[in-house]
Amino acid sequence: MTMPACQSTRRDGSPCRATPTASGRCFAHDEKLRQKTADGRRRGGHNKATAARAARLPADMKALASQLMEAISECYSGELDPKRLSAMASGAGAVVRVHEVGEFTQRLDALEAAANGGKGTLAGLVSTYRRPS
Ligand SMILES: [Zn+2]
Repeated sequence: MTMPACQSTRRDGSPCRATPTASGRCFAHDEKLRQKTADGRRRGGHNKATAARAARLPADMKALASQLMEAISECYSGELDPKRLSAMASGAGAVVRVHEVGEFTQRLDALEAAANGGKGTLAGLVSTYRRPS
């Protein structure tokens, strides 16, 4: 007995072996499901917190996220080698960490400036501080 498989073909022309949905195609190849997911993403989706976070993402982070989502779909349908997805995810993680450090520094600077009555950052204060003689 053979397990049912997706009716679509992969990019390389071989048959997709992923588990199909009711449509007979896997979630990566199901056009209707793809459309639904895309619509949901455009409307902000059901998860408002995630959608709100995503809306605040800078354009390069949004591009990175959508590239990863696509890679996950392709990996699921067998078009993309899991090793490549893994390498992509690890590279994306590094990019996100660099971004986080930049954002953290900006937010800290803003907090310090606010706490300092708008007279500059704590780092600025420290650099101009003179020990009373
Ligand atoms: Zn498929």
